[in-house]
Amino acid sequence: MKKNDLSLYIHIPFCVRKCLYCDFLSGPADARGRDAYMQALLLELESYRNHPLAKRNITTVFIGGGTPSLLTEEQIEALFAKLKDVFFLEEDCEITIEMNPGTVTKQKIDCYLKVGINRFSIGLQSPHDALLKTLGRIHTYKQFLETYHMLRAAGADNINIDLMSALPGQTVQMYCEGLRKVLELSPEHISAYSLIVEEGTPFYEKYNNKCNDLPGEEEDRLMYECTGEILHDAGYERYEISNYAKEGFSSRHNSVYWERGEYLGIGLGSASFTDRCRYKNTSNLKEYIDAWNAGNGASVQRMEEERLTGEDEMEEFMFLGLRMMKGVSGEKFCEQFGVMPEEVFGSEIEKLIQQRLIQRDVESGRISLTKSGIDVSNYVFEHFLL
Ligand code: SF4
Repeated sequence: MKKNDLSLYIHIPFCVRKCLYCDFLSGPADARGRDAYMQALLLELESYRNHPLAKRNITTVFIGGGTPSLLTEEQIEALFAKLKDVFFLEEDCEITIEMNPGTVTKQKIDCYLKVGINRFSIGLQSPHDALLKTLGRIHTYKQFLETYHMLRAAGADNINIDLMSALPGQTVQMYCEGLRKVLELSPEHISAYSLIVEEGTPFYEKYNNKCNDLPGEEEDRLMYECTGEILHDAGYERYEISNYAKEGFSSRHNSVYWERGEYLGIGLGSASFTDRCRYKNTSNLKEYIDAWNAGNGASVQRMEEERLTGEDEMEEFMFLGLRMMKGVSGEKFCEQFGVMPEEVFGSEIEKLIQQRLIQRDVESGRISLTKSGIDVSNYVFEHFLL
């Protein structure tokens, strides 16, 4: 990562309908509502025209949601016309779009490729239709396959598939069979997360603390272990706790988050990290659209601004960096903070090494999670809070 590099995240908060487990900033909206949002989003992009951030090198763009594949071709074209007009996108910029089966057409895919999108992230979650129904997903496995094959036929050569484990009624065997089935497609990247029952979702009402058919902790752990083994055997490298890629296909955008690179969030509720500050846009859709239309967009930006102290930065460096299997580099830590991690976290590091939860590579000095450390990663991260 070079000093002048910057990543962009663009949030599209619309979905056909809300999945039953989802607590993301997303929801249904009609065509008019989506149009009004996109107009506001273009105004927000325009507002950066003379901003110092627009002089930076954009190395990755991530269009996330929600369901960005709900946008029409015209909306995607307008978004990219503005994006390229205001910002400088590097020639080999990684540009990802998230998509959900059931919302993608061949025309849309042609449009994505035409504007320069080169990475495609499909929300599958499970190849079992019964589980997709339980999750409240809008699509079937067959519709996912149609989307996947359409992408391949159009020439897409960098595809991620999102999968979930520890789903209601899912057994370890079922999960592993499903994973193997998806691997037959040979995607370049797999993100595999355990279901977390989040407060405020219909799943929370149904499953929280109730006698239910959610897999237990041991099954959850087994599914995670199997994911690592099956994907390793199939030639994927786990490069982050929940992310696996074929060689050369790890997500550059997500690595920016873990390596504390700078990024700018555009759109509803989007978070940014620039100049040692973390801040975000409003999460209120009406407020966002009204403010930009009234020429007062600045009032819905830089909210919850937090200027990081040196201690905050050291903590982040450790617990974000440890999410990656390569771990953290003592040298890089020293370059940034003028001290080695051992001088700040010495006793915690020694304790965790003794507990075999982290390890230090003798040659490189890098510190990383061990296999047991991955299982209790949150416990490990807590040790780096100053
Ligand atoms: S498609 Fe994704 S963002 Fe939309 S409701 Fe479902 S999980 Fe949430």
